[in-house]
Amino acid sequence: MAFNIAIDGPAGAGKSTIARRVAQELSYLYVDTGAMYRAMALYFQRNRISPENETEISAACDQINVTLTNENGEQQVFLNGENVNAYIRTEEVGKITSAISVYASVRQKLTQLQRELASVSNLIMDGRDIGTCVLPKAQVKIYLTASVETRGKRRFLELQEKGVDCKLEQICEDIRQRDEQDMNRQISPLRQAEDAIFIDSSFLSIEEVVNQILDLVRQKISFTS
Ligand code: C5P
Repeated sequence: MAFNIAIDGPAGAGKSTIARRVAQELSYLYVDTGAMYRAMALYFQRNRISPENETEISAACDQINVTLTNENGEQQVFLNGENVNAYIRTEEVGKITSAISVYASVRQKLTQLQRELASVSNLIMDGRDIGTCVLPKAQVKIYLTASVETRGKRRFLELQEKGVDCKLEQICEDIRQRDEQDMNRQISPLRQAEDAIFIDSSFLSIEEVVNQILDLVRQKISFTS
């Protein structure tokens, strides 16, 4: 049986950096489910389908094929055969993603794909509903969060490094809005699973969080073997 680690939490908590490191240490596959939702959002943006139009969105789901590959530990996301990694990280796509991920048709499509991957590979999967909905039987579940201010500052520094002009207050406001939408949607809202370990990364280094997760995984493996 494959060993699955689920890691959920709000935007900017450090999930992807940490999950990628843990995956490297364990030689597991890393699956970033946010990128899959973003690829779908890109399709709707490119085809001028409004995020508010659930009927059109649901009808278009059949025309969308999202696939993943892993190249040197880096996940590549393909939208109908095209590698779209370079186009899915914009703030605009992020906002559309949060809006379209409320729909059952979108979630069903990606949940199925995520479960297929998890059934055949040892992996660490990050997202918003992995421990609660996609992989309720994951052997290790983490809920990783940090204060809005910490997450905003991290994002601000990341954008500044890329030379993007931005304001810290605006970034914090966007994060608050995204949290609000992700935590309060009807289907698969962002919640801590009952059996998830809560980690607040506000005052922890990446190394500390990675080691905490590796300890939990090793304990679980030695307990079950
Ligand atoms: O993790 P990332 O910020 O790339 O995710 C973008 C958006 O995709 C989230 O704000 C959320 O609305 C949606 N998402 C989701 N369920 C997941 C992963 C992401 O609803 N498992």
